[in-house]
Amino acid sequence: MRRRLAAGNWKMNGSRAALAEIAALAEAFPAPASEIVLCPPATLLAPAAARAEGTALRLGGQDCHPEPRGAHTGDIAAPMLAEAGAAYVILGHSERRADHGETSAQVRAKAAAAQDAGLTAIVCVGESLAERDAGETLSIVGAQMAESIPEDATAEALVLAYEPVWAIGTGRTATSAQIAEVHDFMRAELTRRFGAGTGDAVRLLYGGSVKGANAAEIFATSNVDGALVGGASLTAADFGPIVAAL
Ligand code: PGA
Repeated sequence: MRRRLAAGNWKMNGSRAALAEIAALAEAFPAPASEIVLCPPATLLAPAAARAEGTALRLGGQDCHPEPRGAHTGDIAAPMLAEAGAAYVILGHSERRADHGETSAQVRAKAAAAQDAGLTAIVCVGESLAERDAGETLSIVGAQMAESIPEDATAEALVLAYEPVWAIGTGRTATSAQIAEVHDFMRAELTRRFGAGTGDAVRLLYGGSVKGANAAEIFATSNVDGALVGGASLTAADFGPIVAAL
């Protein structure tokens, strides 16, 4: 019942020339059973949306401000992302939590703003290697979930991504058993907090060094509904096999 989803996070990569990858991906998947989302840098959203028009591809931003407008130099509001053609926005990525000191309370405010703007927030959680080694994985993920997800979150407006920090961009993927333990926990937490309806319907993505070679095994893991992909989302040649494995 949950529609599978592959979301590509281009991070601070890409150019107008790279938008050809969007056309190639759309051509390869004209009528996908699953959802395909690409999140380019904000400067590329509008031209990416023009490329994706009339295709099954959807677009997303990589961050938004909690307020809809105002004196916030350099920030981008959720309604602006929506107007530029985004349907999704990644929030609370570990790189933003680290680079910009983003707190879970800020992520929650951003997720609420995204929902108000009609966007679906892909809220990221995940432990560091030190936290995993200390046996704190589930308590960290639980606390991030409790603090980052708005009270009135709906299954339409929320996707949750489990991204162990030690697996991002490192080539080191979590094992199926590690992923299943956290995803089963996240499902139970969502159900406890939001009830069975919403708890069952929210999609849970795994992220961290997902590639064509490991995607099928990850997608066969308990409570994994798709992936949030960084490096392997930059070209249709790399992202295509991941989408095909959904
Ligand atoms: P990666 O990044 O696939 O390059 O590990 C994942 C992410 O940061 O979302």
